[in-house]
Amino acid sequence: MPVPHPKRACGECDACCTTLQVDELAKAAHTPCALLKRLQPDGGSGCSIWKDPTRPSICHTFVCEWLAGFGENHADRPDRLGLILRMGHATEGPLASEPFALVHEIINEAHLRPRARTVLAQIGQNIPIVLVKLSGERVLLGSKAIVERLGPQVLGPVGSAVVPLAR
Ligand code: SF4
Ligand code: SF4
Repeated sequence: MPVPHPKRACGECDACCTTLQVDELAKAAHTPCALLKRLQPDGGSGCSIWKDPTRPSICHTFVCEWLAGFGENHADRPDRLGLILRMGHATEGPLASEPFALVHEIINEAHLRPRARTVLAQIGQNIPIVLVKLSGERVLLGSKAIVERLGPQVLGPVGSAVVPLAR
């Protein structure tokens, strides 16, 4: 688990509170958590039960790569970039034995924006990227060599979850 960057804080970003599935709260992926302050009568930003020790474990432990220090301080915060980046973890399948980036779109087709393309191109030179589009489609991105090596195994039919990925 990455260590949060000492000079970074989520601020107004609450992208992961929408994107992640939280079983304990029966919260589906890509659905804003009902416990977000901005959805409460008094409004505000962040989580309304932040200090509650019974908060689901994923809420305590999730750290995106931006919060851990990756990328530019302003432009690459997930709510601005349109993407949440983290390292993926596959327990089986073609990516089980190598590091890869797991990237969730939080804005439709955000991966096509100029800054996002630059960031993804940078990462994709070194490791495979599994992009989870807002539509649910999973797309393999990376250098030509990476895509040629992994593409047919990883991609599968559009919309299928071919790669077993830990959340
Ligand atoms: S996506 Fe990252 S920066 Fe945004 S709220 Fe989650 S951990 Fe914080
Ligand atoms: S409980 Fe709080 S931290 Fe967890 S998903 Fe909901 S708003 Fe986010």
